[in-house]
Amino acid sequence: MVKDTKLYDILGVSPDASEQQLKKAYRLGALKNHPDKNPSPEAAEKFKEISHAYEILSDDQKRDIYDQFGEEGLNGGGPGGMGGGMDGSDIFSQFFGGGMGGSSSRPSGPQKGKDIKHSISCSLEELYKGRTAKLALNKTVLCSGCKGKGGKNVKKCSSCNGQGVKFITRQMGPMIQRFQTTCEVCNGEGDIVAPKDKCSICNGKKISNERKILEVHINPGMKSGQKIVFTGEGDQHPDIIPGDVIFVVDEKKHDKFTRKNNDLYYECKIDLLTALSGGYFTISHLNGELLKIEIIPGEVISPGMIKMINDKGMPIQRHGGFGNLYIQFEIEFPQDNFTSLENLKLLESILPKRKELNIPKNAIIDDSCVLSEVDPIKMKSNNGGDGYDDDDDDEHGGQPGVQCAQQ
Ligand SMILES: [Zn+2]
Ligand SMILES: [Zn+2]
Repeated sequence: MVKDTKLYDILGVSPDASEQQLKKAYRLGALKNHPDKNPSPEAAEKFKEISHAYEILSDDQKRDIYDQFGEEGLNGGGPGGMGGGMDGSDIFSQFFGGGMGGSSSRPSGPQKGKDIKHSISCSLEELYKGRTAKLALNKTVLCSGCKGKGGKNVKKCSSCNGQGVKFITRQMGPMIQRFQTTCEVCNGEGDIVAPKDKCSICNGKKISNERKILEVHINPGMKSGQKIVFTGEGDQHPDIIPGDVIFVVDEKKHDKFTRKNNDLYYECKIDLLTALSGGYFTISHLNGELLKIEIIPGEVISPGMIKMINDKGMPIQRHGGFGNLYIQFEIEFPQDNFTSLENLKLLESILPKRKELNIPKNAIIDDSCVLSEVDPIKMKSNNGGDGYDDDDDDEHGGQPGVQCAQQ
């Protein structure tokens, strides 16, 4: 359902018209009412309307908005149907490629200069707290002496009509080719100044160099790839809209924290006693604080377990608040012979009971296997051979990866 069919009516199509149908309707209407063909004021008005309707309906995004909200949606609620100052010839020349009949093709509007991109490397701490970086930029600016004009009494080059370039059409066999060449009268400048009138500061070059300091604000919570844009701070050249200077945030790798979107990940090593019977551990946070965190007695932390702390992740831009901090635990086990055999007996009375050996009645038992230390180099070189295939689970107390078969 569309809110308003006015623009479709102007083109004489139905609201479900295809792109092709719209194009065709516009082409017919625009040709019939173009001011060069039909000088009546009615036709001029109609041409404007048709161009306006097609400009909107040929743009998927604009068409969507129009369908949903009508023209108000496109004008930001303002009154008056026509978009600001459009006379329809822009869209016409876009569509038909150049002016109609004798009317010389109008100079296209000023071009936009190149954007300049810089990457700005930030530590995770800086992205957490935010910072301001002052960066010096060497740029080309219009000469202040002549405001980029090159001198006094500057005249438009009549040979190229101020374009600086000319188009030459040449017949190449069956084809007509169009070349663009630099205008030889003005050397591509587009205008001409008498030597005595040349600006003495830039010697007629119109431009000079300037060093400018830009303050780049890294807001808390910014992410890699995010852009900070200084609109129009690119190089200035006569007849060109300066491009933008764009800083792209590049997040440096942190040796403790890993970031995923607004959340932080941290690997934490705690001792076995704390893992089993509770206690405290600390984390030096990006915000400069030391987090003192309790494992409540009764809570058991096993190797690889992940726990979360609310709101200790990265700041969330615009929405406010913070992501979460995820902690993955590594448990530091005690060394061999860390306590007496009597104490180990005590452990037996404290820890959950051993799993019983489940030996089938008719099993052939070899009880001569000995656990010995692993030589990592030897183990690596043996890997891929046929010596190692995991034959059983580790229920007989062996560490994973240690085999009973002795080489
Ligand atoms: Zn100058
Ligand atoms: Zn010229």
